[in-house]
Amino acid sequence: MAVNHQAGREAPDEIIIRVVNLKKVYGMGDAQVVALDSVGLQIRDNEFVAIMGPSGSGKSTLLNILGCLDRPTSGKYYLAGEDVSDLNKTQLAIIRNKRIGFVFQSYNLLPNTTALENVMLPLLYNRNGSAGSAEQQKQKGMAVLEAVGLADRVGHKPQELSGGQVQRVAIARALINDPVIILADEPTGNLDTRAGEEIMALLAELHARGSTIVMVTHEDEIAAYAQRVIHFRDGHIEIDQLNGRRAPGLKNLEVSDAGR
Ligand code: ADP
Ligand code: MG
Repeated sequence: MAVNHQAGREAPDEIIIRVVNLKKVYGMGDAQVVALDSVGLQIRDNEFVAIMGPSGSGKSTLLNILGCLDRPTSGKYYLAGEDVSDLNKTQLAIIRNKRIGFVFQSYNLLPNTTALENVMLPLLYNRNGSAGSAEQQKQKGMAVLEAVGLADRVGHKPQELSGGQVQRVAIARALINDPVIILADEPTGNLDTRAGEEIMALLAELHARGSTIVMVTHEDEIAAYAQRVIHFRDGHIEIDQLNGRRAPGLKNLEVSDAGR
């Protein structure tokens, strides 16, 4: 188990995500784009964080690195105390499947595949049988669908569900491996206002039950559900502030330059 040397402590000190001097550069030579520049950040267990900022400011790049979909060019990323900055693609895929629940704007569900089969899919990639027997896997799938209010839709395929319901299936799929963190990139971006509110109510409920959530959005009304809002500009953090309302237990949070 990796030790978080910078903090001088092991993982269970509540910091789930710790990013130090993170940099991401795309392309080469004249075509280089610095998507993230010296980003430092700490996110604690059970925080609900919204990431905002103009298009191209680096929000998705950050989320993809936090979600182990991509690697930083330089800098460190500790996930639950483990240094994942230099892992290769295969190692990242294992960490991602075990520890991360990812929700995208465009659902990414398999068509012609039932809600239950879609949510069970990540269990297929679990090595060494850790996902349990076929029956246990099915029960787990049913349980996460029930948790998102879709117990009566388990046999429906995406095309037989509304946009809001499809996104709830995607959230159920993100929950199936008990992730340490849920990452959502504009989860309401393709939904009408009412369906978007349903999805936010669901994320708020998951947060209340203990989930740690980091969500990208460009809508103030959506960001208002979060406890903490981080604004990006040109690849760096411009503002990092608590949302004012529900912040008990976060008083000692080192907010702005915490991870540097
Ligand atoms: P946001 O999500 O805030 O809109 P992104 O993180 O997607 O911003 O992009 C940040 C910057 O990096 C932008 O200038 C974008 O054009 C660039 N970028 C993102 N992905 C790639 C890529 N795969 N190759 C080259 N440039 C990229
Ligand atoms: Mg984006």
